[in-house]
Amino acid sequence: MPALPPAEIGARFFDIDTPALVIDLDAMERNMALLAARVKALGVRLRPHAKTHKSAIIAAKQVALGAVGICCQKVAEAEALAAGGVRDILVSNEVVGGRKLARLAALARQIKIGVCVDHLDQVALLNEAARQAGSRIDVLIEIDVGGRRCGIAPGPLAVTFAAEIARCANLRFGGLQAYHGRAQHLRTPAERQAAIGAAQRGVADTVAHLKAAGFACDTIGGAGTGTFLLEGGSGVWNELQAGSYIFMDADYARNVSDEGGNAPRFEHALFVLATVMSATSTEQVVVDAGHKALSNDSGFPDVWQRPGLAYQRPSDEHGIITVAAGAQPPAWGNKLLLVPGHCDPTVNLHDWYVGVRDFGTPHARVETLWPVDARGALG
Ligand SMILES: *Cc1c(COP(=O)(O)O)cnc(C)c1O
Repeated sequence: MPALPPAEIGARFFDIDTPALVIDLDAMERNMALLAARVKALGVRLRPHAKTHKSAIIAAKQVALGAVGICCQKVAEAEALAAGGVRDILVSNEVVGGRKLARLAALARQIKIGVCVDHLDQVALLNEAARQAGSRIDVLIEIDVGGRRCGIAPGPLAVTFAAEIARCANLRFGGLQAYHGRAQHLRTPAERQAAIGAAQRGVADTVAHLKAAGFACDTIGGAGTGTFLLEGGSGVWNELQAGSYIFMDADYARNVSDEGGNAPRFEHALFVLATVMSATSTEQVVVDAGHKALSNDSGFPDVWQRPGLAYQRPSDEHGIITVAAGAQPPAWGNKLLLVPGHCDPTVNLHDWYVGVRDFGTPHARVETLWPVDARGALG
């Protein structure tokens, strides 16, 4: 049973219960429109990553702005988003295990499904699952372009995979998955450029080998919020998978933007609203949002627009807010907005989004309550 939402539609901002996952709807819409326009100008396709938001409603908004479909990372996420109406999903990940493959193949009867492989045995297993389900699955070969996560080495090995996929009646060779996760959070533009430049050489080399063997890549997918202009402008990638841009987080805000000022500036649109539940000292207060309301794997949250306040020492259900000398300590019962260090896993801790219009103004109101459809969808 999902928990009750922390607010009612139409409620004033002040009446939202805490901890709550709050969206500044205007900022989110600006982020979505900005990325869609930039990707369109690059002349490539957009397939945003839904692991950020896990919401069918937000996915539908991305599709309405021109996305060809969405990515997700797990079969269970794909199931939840398909149930919410998404029609075209790439599982940008390897799926291993008979039960999962059967579910993926069943889903491919209802909607367009793609998946990645980096092991030859997986090709036959996927084909068998799709044959039994009577469906067809698009298969991308994942190459490791520097992220040192999944993926085969760029180069001629991809030809062996493409030939194997092409032999399978229930599979379709879709192209390459080439996502450089580690490049996203390299802090300087020069570092990101170098990383994507090296990745680009690997992708181009792989595409050339495939072409020489008679295999055309319909899709060459990859890119995230930190680097999408580079992949999109490379002439090599043709489908971009940025995800975090809709919300942004404190960690992404630590990236240095490009010197030329060409990079779009996405705004913080996602917050955890917390209440000061204890204020027994002038040096620190305690809020009701700890590890179970915020993911701290990429650093602690920033306290929004409150200079001198810093979030520290979270425990399960508490966070300490330290007050620098000279800063105004928040009073008992005050509410504070926290910008999560890492948006995706923070979202996964909540059942509901509270969408606020006119955020930050005296008219701020709850306009929407959206379920986090794929919350906890790990399988
Ligand atoms: C997370 C992820 C993305 C999106 O990256 P962001 O940094 O959130 O924009 C894209 N592709 C893949 C495969 C991912 O895992």
